[in-house]
Amino acid sequence: MVRAAQVHKSYGQVEVLKGIDLEVQQGQVFCLVGPSGSGKSTFLRCINHLEKINAGRLYVDGELVGYREKGGKLHELPDREVARKRRDIGMVFQRFNLFPHMSALENITEAPVRVKGMAKPDARAKAEELLARVGLADKAGNYPSQLSGGQQQRVAIARALAMEPKLMLFDEPTSALDPELVGDVLDVMRRLAEDGMTMIVVTHEMGFAREVGDALVFMDDGVVVESGHPREVLTNPQHERTQAFLSKVL
Ligand code: ADP
Ligand code: MG
Repeated sequence: MVRAAQVHKSYGQVEVLKGIDLEVQQGQVFCLVGPSGSGKSTFLRCINHLEKINAGRLYVDGELVGYREKGGKLHELPDREVARKRRDIGMVFQRFNLFPHMSALENITEAPVRVKGMAKPDARAKAEELLARVGLADKAGNYPSQLSGGQQQRVAIARALAMEPKLMLFDEPTSALDPELVGDVLDVMRRLAEDGMTMIVVTHEMGFAREVGDALVFMDDGVVVESGHPREVLTNPQHERTQAFLSKVL
């Protein structure tokens, strides 16, 4: 579903991704962990067309991100095509990013109606189904300010799912939550994984990574330091940098 080959990304003179190689298989829960500033968010933003890579190749579902290869040359994709591809990728951020002036239900129906041209009654029915799926069937009319952080994050997940993405990116989805609200969000993610969604999850929740993850990559300073099955990497880290990081978060 995702393949990175020697992906490089710089901001000005500062190289943030220094040759990332990894592969995410369809249906996998792929956990990305590492210290702050190691380039995790930047990598997710590259996958989601929010940043352009400077070198290497990045593929989603077999297609190059941001470019088309023709006659051995790369051509930048027109904005319209980028927008179409982005619809297939759902993203959930640390901050919930709901539209504050819209109810939970309206937050979920907005993109399917506006972007996909879905009929409003159909979008509402689908949104109600999604709200039930994230345990918020009774909150359809609530505005974000009338929801807890954990509830807002579950609405944000439902909103992403409303576009029927083939890949979900989670960037520290529980880091901004009060500890007692983290479990409900992780439960929703766990069920999504059981339903077969391909997910890349940046998280410090090592319990989640261990129980739900199929693969784990430890990143530091723009490179993949170590990767493997989560249980293996978490219980028997090979590299000093991985050991040092895990000793802080476990
Ligand atoms: P992580 O998510 O692992 O904490 P980030 O991908 O957010 O790391 O950031 C990696 C590095 O890139 C940091 O040093 C950060 O300051 C830098 N960076 C991120 N975004 C930008 C930007 N838009 N412009 C310049 N530097 C950036
Ligand atoms: Mg980040």
